[in-house]
Amino acid sequence: MSLTIYNTLTRRKEAFGPLDPANVRLYVCGPTVYDYAHIGNARPVVVFDVLFRLLRFLYGAEHVTYVRNITDVDDKINARAAQDYPESPLNEAIRKVTEKTEAQFHEDMHALGALDPTVEPRATEHIAEMCAMIDRLIAEGSAYVAEGHVLFSVSSMPDYGKLSGRSLDEMLAGARVEVAPFKKDPMDFVLWKPSKPGEPSWPSPGGIETPGRPGWHIECSAMSAAHLGKVFDIHGGGIDLVFPHHENEIAQSRCAHGTDIMAQVWMHNGFLQVEGEKMSKSLGNFVTVHELLTGWQGYAWPGEALRFNMFRTHYRQPLDWTHVSLDEAHKTLWDWYGDVEGHEPAPEVPDAIVEALSDDLNTPKVIAELHKLHGAKQFSELRAALGFLGFSGKRSNIKRNAVLQPDRVENQSKVYAPTITVSPSSEQVDDLIAARHEARKAKDFAEADRIRDELLAMGIVLKDAKDPATGELKTTWEVAR
Ligand code: AMP
Ligand code: ZN
Repeated sequence: MSLTIYNTLTRRKEAFGPLDPANVRLYVCGPTVYDYAHIGNARPVVVFDVLFRLLRFLYGAEHVTYVRNITDVDDKINARAAQDYPESPLNEAIRKVTEKTEAQFHEDMHALGALDPTVEPRATEHIAEMCAMIDRLIAEGSAYVAEGHVLFSVSSMPDYGKLSGRSLDEMLAGARVEVAPFKKDPMDFVLWKPSKPGEPSWPSPGGIETPGRPGWHIECSAMSAAHLGKVFDIHGGGIDLVFPHHENEIAQSRCAHGTDIMAQVWMHNGFLQVEGEKMSKSLGNFVTVHELLTGWQGYAWPGEALRFNMFRTHYRQPLDWTHVSLDEAHKTLWDWYGDVEGHEPAPEVPDAIVEALSDDLNTPKVIAELHKLHGAKQFSELRAALGFLGFSGKRSNIKRNAVLQPDRVENQSKVYAPTITVSPSSEQVDDLIAARHEARKAKDFAEADRIRDELLAMGIVLKDAKDPATGELKTTWEVAR
């Protein structure tokens, strides 16, 4: 089965072929750690977790390297540290903010069923590589020193703008570029800048005597090269990162390494909005993963429902995060758990599902296929590939009542699955009857009885009779009254 992926660089879907099938390499831009992750931040994590799982499924788990960084040096971190810990020296305050936020990020992403990436490098652990890269860019004539800064010279890169497909004028307008008198060209961007007294600082590259700190873009170029090499397979992130962040990453990496590409494929997830509007604190619709898990609009949502709700929209489409769709996602999951509980997991993932996933991660199609199967079997491999139907283990973890009865939210520990009957589809019943016949033929009567009891628990009564003509056992069924 061949994997096709939409490549932002070429603007079309392409057949994916790894540079080295023994080591498929994926890099995704990770969070800047100063605050709780909002549900929009969770979208790339979930999308690329599905890709990671699919690649592991297709190439073998030990043949995929997934790197997702932590940006732990940034003006926003400094500002938050000074605000939250005014009594502490800035560097200590920064450490407190980044450690706390990183731990929270991990907790939230685990709740969403996301696997840890293979490597999760921190920017501050790679400053030496950043400086070496900057020195190389200066030596190659792609960067220059000006007033304690090092700037990338955009004119040294003829392909600049290829990823975003923008003209120089559009880029100038879109980037709201900082006009600084020391820039040779307004589009030139910062690789290194001076630190203010008290701020985190490191010895500078480019022969600059005063200490400084890296710009944001160089971090990802240095960390991806350190862990994946000069050229790798897939680079991902949210659509907002195409310009300038990814455009700049490409420029730095290609010029520093003298390569034609940085990554073969560039993948970008669409933006998430909430109840039809751009998420923003001023509109009051800003929502963190932590809030969703602990209480949003009166309900505490299981992480698996959040994950599943993301799957309902194709990753490249804008996603409208609404209470109604989340509720629907939650109920579907609940129903499927009812269908699969008590079944031995089937080892194989149906081809239709692997095909849908391999078609540029078509998760809405996967869901349609699962509806057809109606969760008749709990595919153990599917859990590995999709990260649900089994990641919380039991249906009771889905807590249907948490959604139906908001007043129960305060009482989470007492909330559990109510007695609702789930009617199986007739195909499901027929499948189970066929499985029971197989068991009887194999003289596995214990299994045959188990299946009969399972059907009984679903309200289905079986009647066995011998076909007078052939002498074969025939089973009919009816719904118990
Ligand atoms: P940031 O911490 O802002 O750099 O964002 C981390 C990741 O979340 C990046 O890949 C962003 O593209 C992505 N992201 C941020 N906001 C949204 C959103 N509303 N919808 C989808 N992705 C987002
Ligand atoms: Zn990045």
